[in-house]
Amino acid sequence: MNAMLQAALGQIKDSSVVLSDDYQDKKRFKKAIEAILTPEKIIKGKITIKAGSSGKRKTFQVFRIEHNDARGPFKGGIRFHPDVSEDEVRALSTLMSLKCAVAGIPYGGGKGGIIVDPSKLTREELKELSMEYAKFIAPYIGPWKDVPAPDVNTDGQIMSWMLEAYEKKIGMESPATFTGKPLELGGSLGRTEATGQGGVYVLDAYLKRNSKFQGPNSKITIAVQGFGNVGYYFATIASELGFKVVAVSDSSSGIYNPKGLDIKALGEFKDKGGSFKNYPLKSGTKLITNSELLELPVTFLVPAALENAITKDNMEKISAEVVLEMANGPTTTEADTYLFEKGIDVIPDILSNSGGVTVSYFEWVQNLNGYYWTKEKVNEELKNIITKAFMDIDKIKKEKRISYRRAANYLSLKRIIDAMMLRGRV
Ligand code: GLU
Repeated sequence: MNAMLQAALGQIKDSSVVLSDDYQDKKRFKKAIEAILTPEKIIKGKITIKAGSSGKRKTFQVFRIEHNDARGPFKGGIRFHPDVSEDEVRALSTLMSLKCAVAGIPYGGGKGGIIVDPSKLTREELKELSMEYAKFIAPYIGPWKDVPAPDVNTDGQIMSWMLEAYEKKIGMESPATFTGKPLELGGSLGRTEATGQGGVYVLDAYLKRNSKFQGPNSKITIAVQGFGNVGYYFATIASELGFKVVAVSDSSSGIYNPKGLDIKALGEFKDKGGSFKNYPLKSGTKLITNSELLELPVTFLVPAALENAITKDNMEKISAEVVLEMANGPTTTEADTYLFEKGIDVIPDILSNSGGVTVSYFEWVQNLNGYYWTKEKVNEELKNIITKAFMDIDKIKKEKRISYRRAANYLSLKRIIDAMMLRGRV
């Protein structure tokens, strides 16, 4: 079992200890926890594509894992990455069930993945792989069954190809089957930046609830690991609000300036296809490694890349006051326990990065209604939902004197178990 799956299942078992007091029928409760430890359906297989100038066939291992649908249709992104594995997709699908329950949106959890390095594919190959994948999972998805979306290395273009292949196969329009679509195909305003925007709302709510951080935003320093969709928008929105983003990184390198970075200039550099290791440095700014970034003495450390960023190997060197998890599963169980004991708050992924799936929910609502919202409405509703989720969790954390993660897991598991019990599944 890989570290991330171990962490996800460990968290459920761990939080079930606190939660068990709420249920009189212990046998039924135990059955519910056991059911949540196992996904409802694992769909996997191999896809062969024949695109490319050489006409050479290429085969890929693909997955879609449907974890739990007691609270609504399965929901979750599709990841294209060489490190995708069944364990990873299973862990991510479990986190999606917890995430949707924390946000209080009416979905269960699912996740998809393909073992592929998309940078090694031509555009034609990427299109064919996306379309074949959509046909492969077509029998299992739909607005009231399972609603995929983008994740690492997938985006609106890939959703468009998938939607096209899916609709051709089922013989009708069905925009609410995929979220994260471009606006032209029924996407929602604010979806692209939603995960980063949601993270900044959580940061804001956390600061308001913790008196030791009162004062101007410019006194708060932030280091962001990862400059993909999540890290880029988080850093951009935070710096627009006056927070001092002192470090960012991509997979090649990190960039650090204790006085704060020009995030706009860094974004423009990345848009042109640059790698941070080649960034023209101004005085006061220096290159650092990704590991060095994680150890910086900042107010907020924001891991926004992949899982397992904070592990037993570097946990003792974490010098941030707070960790705001924007990636899925960036902290291993051992490191999480260590940081809690050291008094470092870790705001968990299932809360901090739930802005993406929340605006996916708005997109689905808009598709089903055929009526579209303004960006102001999207952001207002997102702020309401994610701030409420933070407040609910903060209250449980303080009442029960547990970590934010335990409190978030407690709340989400309770919602899932109650739905399972109402349905008579356990
Ligand atoms: N992939 C994103 C996540 O991990 C978004 C999922 C969605 O919008 O369904 O939360």
